Amino acid sequence: MGKYLMVGAGLSGAVIGRHLAEAGHDVTVVDSRAHIGGNCYTERDADTGVLVHVYGPHIFHTDDAEVWDYVNAYETFLPYKNRVKATTGGAVYSLPVNLHTINQFFGRTMRPDEARDFIVDEQADTSITDPQTFEEQAMRFVGKDLYEAFFKGYTMKQWGCHPSELPASILKRLPVRFNYDDNYFFHQFQGMPENGYTTMIQAILDHANITVHLNTVFDRSQAEDYDHVFYSGPLDGYFDFELGRLGYRTLDFERFTCEGDYQGCAVMNYGEVDVPYTRITEHKHFAPWEDHEGSICYREFSRAAGPDDIPYYPIRQVAEKALLGDYVALAEEADGVSFVGRLGTYRYLDMDVTIREALDTARSFLSHVQDGTRAPAFFVAPL
Ligand code: FAD
Ligand code: UDP
Repeated sequence: MGKYLMVGAGLSGAVIGRHLAEAGHDVTVVDSRAHIGGNCYTERDADTGVLVHVYGPHIFHTDDAEVWDYVNAYETFLPYKNRVKATTGGAVYSLPVNLHTINQFFGRTMRPDEARDFIVDEQADTSITDPQTFEEQAMRFVGKDLYEAFFKGYTMKQWGCHPSELPASILKRLPVRFNYDDNYFFHQFQGMPENGYTTMIQAILDHANITVHLNTVFDRSQAEDYDHVFYSGPLDGYFDFELGRLGYRTLDFERFTCEGDYQGCAVMNYGEVDVPYTRITEHKHFAPWEDHEGSICYREFSRAAGPDDIPYYPIRQVAEKALLGDYVALAEEADGVSFVGRLGTYRYLDMDVTIREALDTARSFLSHVQDGTRAPAFFVAPL
């Protein structure tokens, strides 16, 4: 039987580790943090009883039935729809941009087809046929007025650059709807783990063949004791940043508490650039089936990550992609290690995609073990 090391006790390390453990292998999981769960970590606040999404709001949504069955096998998921609101120009609107947003914003009472025609004929810049940048995508699909109210300022705060420097793909994550559906996501399966993500990941790691060591920073000398390492830490960190640092945005959460209901919803976005935070999260609204007098909120600020900050969002502009290519080349030379997850592959990954890739990685790895062939550095190409 093999002896395998998972660097990182987040979803990637837990899911791959569990799969290998069930196949009879010996699995060690290390994490530099004092807790499991990675960025999905949730914890119950001792004073208020509120379940807090410590590294920012996490809503589970997927079309992948196997992944949905997987998470439900380890934790009860209760129905939850993310209904985000946005404050801009002195009013509150519904997001993603939908018929209510459009009618309220323009002071109209349009029906779906009228609104569609209005956006196409009077708002959208239809001269843009193949939008490349975030700004072009917004101008093409909602037009200048909605772009400036909801997207321009928010995106400048979130990414620290002008939307014309960002790829269209970032905005493509959000739909524009010509009906009153205000569900932020469009996936078939959506929900929230009843007792939080930490409980779920704890259950995934709970196997006789898995040992977890917290407060343990990986260094490459530890790899000698194992047949293979699955590394879900930052790709550049594995190589001691020898080629330079891959750029990330980090988040600062300014926590505040209050009695009762602070904002009446889980997530309120702030579209204007002169409001310094991007959004306020009120955690108890992620568990509407619970009842708490007190409330815990996070004001969320985004900035460039320094060497000691937690890396949150990979930037992936032209310069970062070039450096990523150099690290990928280094990684492909390294023996006995595969790079996985959001940091190991330097991509923004939702939880469902992380689990899908972890399952595929573990299965593919086992077939390499069976065939006696070399496991690749990347089971999913990061470029
Ligand atoms: P991580 O969770 O980052 O885990 C990596 C672990 O490795 C960490 O615990 C870290 O401490 C550890 N580690 C790193 N380096 C070392 C080292 N050298 N030695 C030891 N340990 C190390 N997804 C959704 O589906 N829905 C959402 O609503 C959603 N919201 C999000 C909001 C924010 C603000 C962010 C940043 C992400 C969000 N995500 C969401 C994405 C989700 O967080 C990721 O899909 C998930 O965390 C990826 O898991 P991972 O195991 O790959 O990485
Ligand atoms: N965005 C925006 N205004 C909003 C919400 C999102 O401009 O009110 C932009 C922003 O650039 C963000 C992108 O749309 O990075 C994708 O939004 P999403 O909610 O998916 O962001 P994430 O989950 O990455 O925080």
